Formats: sequence, C-alpha cells, structure tokens
Amino acid sequence: MNIHRGIVSRTTPLTPTLRRVTLEGPGIADFLSTGIGDEYVRVFFPHGDDPTEVSLPVPEGDWWATPPGAPEAPMRTYTISGVRPHVGEVDIDFVIHRTGIAGPWAANARPGHVIGLNSPTGLYAPPADTTWQVLVSDLTGLPAVARIAAGIRAGIRTRIVLEVPDENDRVEFAVPENVEVTWVIGGNGHGPSALGQVVRSIVDARLPLAEGYVWVAGETVALRDVRAYLRRELGLSAARFKVIGYWTPIENWTSKYADLPETVRRELDAIWVDTPHDEPEDVQVRFEARLNQLGL
Ligand SMILES: Cc1cc2nc3c(=O)[nH]c(=O)nc-3n(C[C@H](O)[C@H](O)[C@H](O)COP(=O)(O)OP(=O)(O)OC[C@H]3O[C@@H](n4cnc5c(N)ncnc54)[C@H](O)[C@@H]3O)c2cc1C
Repeated sequence: MNIHRGIVSRTTPLTPTLRRVTLEGPGIADFLSTGIGDEYVRVFFPHGDDPTEVSLPVPEGDWWATPPGAPEAPMRTYTISGVRPHVGEVDIDFVIHRTGIAGPWAANARPGHVIGLNSPTGLYAPPADTTWQVLVSDLTGLPAVARIAAGIRAGIRTRIVLEVPDENDRVEFAVPENVEVTWVIGGNGHGPSALGQVVRSIVDARLPLAEGYVWVAGETVALRDVRAYLRRELGLSAARFKVIGYWTPIENWTSKYADLPETVRRELDAIWVDTPHDEPEDVQVRFEARLNQLGL
C-alpha cells in the first residue's frame, strides 16, 4: 500500500450538494487504480488550520501508522470517481453537509489545498455467471454507481435506483443498453431513506436469485434491514450481494460506541469471536440487530 499526497487543482460543482475535487501533484502520479467501479480510498485531512499541511501516515503492510510524535490526520473513506493516469489526476466527489471533517473540507476546498490518500480497494464483484443486477444507493454512492455503470459487462440486465436529496441533485451519467436508471427524492440526512423499501420492492423471490447480484450503499442504519432481508429472508449467498454502510446518521457514533458499558462492548465483540464458523454476513446481521437495540 502507498500513501499519496494530493494537491487540489480544481473543484467543480456537480449539483447543489455534490462537489468534485480534482487532485494532482507528484504524489498522485503513482496512484494505481484497481479498475473496480466502486474503488475507494482512505482520505487523510489536515489536522490544524493550515490547509496545505497534512500529517501523512506511513504505510505498514496493508495498514498505516502515524509516526511517533506526529499529529494524527483525521481520516474518512471516499470513492475514486475518476482517474486519468496520462495527466496524473484523480477525482473525488464529495457530498456537502454541514458538520464533520470531510463535508466541510470539501465545501471550502481551493486549489493548493492538500490531502492524503492511500491505495484503492474495490468491493463490487458480481460472480461471472451473473445475468441481472440491482445497484441501489444514496448520493454518497452515486460516484461509485456511475463508474460501475460505465463498465457493466454486456449481457447483464441492470436496474439502478439512486436516492438523492433534491431533483437538482440528479447527475446524468452514461449507461450501456440493458440498464434502467430510476431516481428517488429523499433520504440523505434530509429525511428517512427509502432504500430499504426500494430493495424489497425490486428484489424478491420471483427473480432467478442464483443468477443475480445486488449492490447497495448508503446510510448504515437504513441498510441493516436490507442486509437482513437479502441474507435471512431471501437466503442470498454472500457472493450474490454487497451491502455497504457508507455513512452513519448517528452523530459521534464512534465515541458513543466507546462509551458503552464494558460488559456490553464485550458482548458485542463476542458476537464476532464466538462464531468462527458462521458466515461473516450472518454474524454481521446479528451484530447489527444488537446495535439497533442499543440505539447505535
Ligand atoms: C466505501 C465508501 C465510499 C464512500 N464514498 C463516498 C463518496 O464518494 N462521496 C461521499 O460524499 N461520501 C462517500 N462515503 C461516505 C463518507 O465516508 C461519509 O459521509 C463520511 O462520514 C463523511 O465524513 P464527515 O467528516 O464529513 O462527517 P462525519 O464526521 O462522519 O459525520 C458528521 C455528521 O455528518 C453526518 N453525515 C456524514 N456523512 C453524511 C452525508 N453523506 N450526508 C448527510 N449527513 C452526513 C453524520 O451523520 C454526522 O452527524 C463513502 C463511504 C464508504 C465507506
């Protein structure tokens, strides 16, 4: 894994809520795309007031570490929405929202500002025999869906549903034949997300489930029902779906989790440790059901 230093070369408003930040610089020249449509990176942001100073961690195997004594850079996860190796540029499309680190950073990003990013990884992986797929996400997943759509294999019938906060947040993107795109207005922290109902309404037992693939990304709490539905009610094998919580609507989730009584944290850890022979998706469903009970 590498950690790259990216310098903002320009920003482009895509919609009122989505802003493209283009990065360049010597650190970006060696950025190696995986080519997987939903490839994402960890982004490291400035720790202080100087937008050009980022305390870059150093790679350690598949992970990274902040050098002793150096300030820790706040880190968030983002999709690579575009890579142009011939000109040494990478794009990231940020949803703009009021609180946190990344959203406000993107709203104020200017040429010359600096961030760090690591090497990308992708999750979208339809099995070779897939004949149909469903891609569902809110605005945070739109960059991934647009890139996935550009590379859909011929012969895979595809249904895409995107939930955006406003009509003006629709971003048209090129789709091959056999791809149907539907827009839903709502969710995205502005109201309840309909992604759960969307998935239930279009993926059901009448489909040839053994030939399909379902990829869903968005707000974590809304997606817990989707994972349980696909796994428990429809019995999809883990290879046939990917449900990825992109952001949590619960403010300060990490510190709230850390503040749980130790007995509860041990009980949550045990859900993973005590079930080594269960499929990770089943363990995740149990873990998320317990988080729901805890209001997390
Ligand atoms: C694999 C992966 C790929 C991702 N790709 C993208 C991408 O391409 N573009 C993108 O914009 N996001 C993407 N995300 C989501 C992004 O990582 C989160 O939105 C992140 O939490 C934003 O960090 P923050 O510092 O702005 O807010 P945080 O500090 O995480 O949260 C602060 C507050 O803002 C709220 N909040 C956070 N994100 C949103 C949001 N999107 N809408 C409304 N309220 C929000 C939280 O509920 C919280 O109350 C991706 C996430 C993953 C896991």
